Amino acid sequence: MGRYHDAKCRLCRREGEKLFLKGARCATGKCAIDRRNYAPGQHGQARTKLSTYGQQLREKQKAKRIYGVLERQFRRYFALADRYRGVTGTVLLQLLERRLDNLVYRLGIGASRCQARQIVRHGHIMVNGRRVNIPSFLARPGQDIMLHESARANKQILACLEETNSRGRLQWLEWNPDTFTGRILSVPSREDIPVSVKEQLIVELYSK
Ligand code: SF4
Repeated sequence: MGRYHDAKCRLCRREGEKLFLKGARCATGKCAIDRRNYAPGQHGQARTKLSTYGQQLREKQKAKRIYGVLERQFRRYFALADRYRGVTGTVLLQLLERRLDNLVYRLGIGASRCQARQIVRHGHIMVNGRRVNIPSFLARPGQDIMLHESARANKQILACLEETNSRGRLQWLEWNPDTFTGRILSVPSREDIPVSVKEQLIVELYSK
């Protein structure tokens, strides 16, 4: 699957809020949202009132950008969520949260989803003892996500894990620092998914 290769801070500026796409930099004064909080481009500072469609579109774009998913794959997640029982918007976010690159980020192995994706692509992640290098792999509750021995001395990963250990993890995830293994305890409820997306607007957009 493809991914976005251009400047990431432009995406945050377009959405007008921090999407935390760049790890540690997002918490520093170098963050583009702190310095230039207006949309990129020639007309970025023009005042615009969003239509209903515009609001729906922005929420969908925001969700895609947060999780690093492009349009076609995102639509596939929506189609899948639509087939499952439950509130479609919540199921959509639950599917996105179960992506392996997202879980590696949530467990604190990677500082951003982008870095987590690279860690997965480079084969440093094992799921239930088997190497998985597909970032879109959907993990299930009860599965173990382990950092491969070859990457356990990586200074960047260790620093990131240490920072996450002090900050704490989401309650539906468990981390064992001795074995470098994380586990999904359950599928998260909407309250346990800390993303500022109005998923109902995405459902409305795709249901037209
Ligand atoms: Fe977004 Fe992070 Fe760039 Fe700030 S530094 S604009 S939060 S990607």
